[in-house]
Amino acid sequence: MAQQTQVSRVAVYYRAWLKQFPSFSALASAPAADVLRAWSGLGYNSRALRFHQLAQTVVQQHRSRLPRDPEALQQLPGIGRYTAHALCSFAFGMHVPVVDVNIRRIITRWTKKVGTSSEVLPEKESWQLAEGLLPVCRSSDWNQALMDFGAMVCTARRPKCDVCPVASYCRSAHSRTFLTIQTKERKKEPVWRGIPRRLYRGKLLKLLHHHALTAEEAASALWSDAGAKDAEWTERLLDAMVRDGLLSRHGKRFRMTTV
Ligand code: SF4
Repeated sequence: MAQQTQVSRVAVYYRAWLKQFPSFSALASAPAADVLRAWSGLGYNSRALRFHQLAQTVVQQHRSRLPRDPEALQQLPGIGRYTAHALCSFAFGMHVPVVDVNIRRIITRWTKKVGTSSEVLPEKESWQLAEGLLPVCRSSDWNQALMDFGAMVCTARRPKCDVCPVASYCRSAHSRTFLTIQTKERKKEPVWRGIPRRLYRGKLLKLLHHHALTAEEAASALWSDAGAKDAEWTERLLDAMVRDGLLSRHGKRFRMTTV
């Protein structure tokens, strides 16, 4: 839930979610439409479907318990290397490194003089270095401390080298490159009528909670003055949501997936 969504927002959904799906088996046996309804409002709805598939795999292949092994976890839907290691470190207290975007940046700056504030070491090297840096005890606390350090001191754009406790042995401390303002343009998000497409995905999913609709009907529900172009755009978006597994299409009608 917390992938790309603020924790304060997640907290509300998390409690309600656990009430509705208190176990992997409860989640695995629920219809996908119920799972999507419970997720509604959190955004990036394909995460809900992957979580649903993950629960089904855990029930079928792991006797309803998450495997305590980073390699086995990465075989589950929606779990990559970072999440697998974070689970093992933070939930199971295992002695494993965790490399997120903050930790990768810190390790890069510590070990080499960076040329730009966004420079990072290759992924494989970052993981190897993170493994070598793990303290013998309390490695889970270490991983969490590094994340906080990256968020509060060794920040992406303006690292606070003046107050940094490791500045004396950091290769990039006080680097002039940190003074260069990064002008890299942000990737533009597709919009329609000035509103990001991803917001329409959530709205459409809500509209289709209880009824199947055609693209024209959905467009009319979105805009009181919807025209042919709006309907065409809506149909393309609905088809994309079908491809993502969120909806199914029956002739001209779209409805929430029932798998
Ligand atoms: S000295 Fe500066 S660049 Fe190095 S770890 Fe500390 S904050 Fe980051």
